[in-house]
Amino acid sequence: MTQPSDNQANLRHLPKVHVLLESEAARALLAEHPRPVVLDEVRAEIDALRQRVLAGESAPPFDEEAIFRHVRKKLEATDLRRIRRAVNATGIVIHTNMGRAPLAEAAVQAVVGVARGYSNLELDLATGRRGGRGGQIGELLRRLTGAEAALIVNNNAAAALLALGTLAAGGDVAISRGELVEIGGGFRIPDVIRQSGARLVEVGATNKTRLSDYVQAITPDTRVLLKVHTSNYRIVGFTEEVDLAALAALGREYGLPVMNDLGSGALTDLTRWGLPYEPTVGEAIKSGADVATVSGDKLLGGPQCGIILGRAEMVGRMAANPLYRALRPDKMTLAALEATLRLYEDEERLAEAVPTLHMLSRTRENLTPRARRLRNALAKLPGLETRLRDGAGYTGGGALPAHPLPTKWVQVRSLGDGPSVDELAARLRRHDPPVVGMVSDGWLTLDVRTVRGDEVGVIVAAVREAFGEGKA
Ligand SMILES: *Cc1c(COP(=O)(O)O)cnc(C)c1O
Repeated sequence: MTQPSDNQANLRHLPKVHVLLESEAARALLAEHPRPVVLDEVRAEIDALRQRVLAGESAPPFDEEAIFRHVRKKLEATDLRRIRRAVNATGIVIHTNMGRAPLAEAAVQAVVGVARGYSNLELDLATGRRGGRGGQIGELLRRLTGAEAALIVNNNAAAALLALGTLAAGGDVAISRGELVEIGGGFRIPDVIRQSGARLVEVGATNKTRLSDYVQAITPDTRVLLKVHTSNYRIVGFTEEVDLAALAALGREYGLPVMNDLGSGALTDLTRWGLPYEPTVGEAIKSGADVATVSGDKLLGGPQCGIILGRAEMVGRMAANPLYRALRPDKMTLAALEATLRLYEDEERLAEAVPTLHMLSRTRENLTPRARRLRNALAKLPGLETRLRDGAGYTGGGALPAHPLPTKWVQVRSLGDGPSVDELAARLRRHDPPVVGMVSDGWLTLDVRTVRGDEVGVIVAAVREAFGEGKA
């Protein structure tokens, strides 16, 4: 330990920021990062050093190389937080933390087209006058779902908020106790109802709700009968719920709008690909829902948005609500949605064209060649062992929760005293582009369902690098 007076004196020998920034090491960093960012980090290092000097924990000569090592580490950590493409090797198709639906190529092109320059977003090219926002989206959705009208907002949470805020603010919303769900990330249906300015009226019991329960709940204050698709959980056993058609009939009898929050947003029957039945938006409209809301980036496979469908009069009131202005999406979202919906017009090629549907429709058998290819490439690398396994994947995004997708896993782990499985997973995440896998049973597990053919090489490079790290 040094004396406090020595510590004060030692401060004079601290490296000077402007001198450090002239050094060779700084020049290398400045070539990759903006000057103010490097400056901030160098200052922070010197400040930390100053504290250590004052505490008598550090004294000259100071190690300038160590300063730059720390700065470089910090800048790399910051870089890791930048939003960028990542390889999804989790097999979870609608991975909310990884950006949900990858867009179809046509949608990507549509985004690029409007992003770089101007567009006819609200311009009627036939007349040169101001036009509606959203191009053909309304027509496409009317044709695909049978709904009278459509309105697009930023996500399904916004759709529910706008729909309830328009139809039910100041009044009651009746909903079954079995449908008061939390969707994820703390988003709860009861909170959305409250936020919309409506009062929540709970109907029936958690496991059983009958039509008579709704009848009892209806008062002069009731504005909406709400049915929520309990996307991410299932009540099994001694259960009963009122189906949408029966609820819609009740709504008509009492002159009350019936709203259906479908969440997952299937536009087409998934059973043809061997997937479980999911109610489609078209069926909800056919069953008599006056308003239906869905996510654009779940089973639909489009950009993040919320789609409101239903009676022209009600949807028109929502469009006129000042809240809509705060919730409406930008040109890139609308362009991507329109392009995605156009793909739905060709049912034959749908599973090829929409990546979400393509990935969900793949069987274990047709995933096996890609899994083999990945495994064979990894098996050539030194220091690790690999194996091929039958596994179970998930749709994700709260969709089809009770349906594991039969899949093929490629598993990797170190031989001898190589990196642990957790360390291996962390190194893959630090790769550029990052590769995100799973850890299970002491293996790093890669599910090829969500891996594109051209990403197999990226994974191999990331694993090679992960095993090479620290050896040089
Ligand atoms: C996912 C979901 C939502 C929220 O949708 P976002 O598009 O994520 O805002 C709301 N309701 C249900 C039933 C859902 O499944």
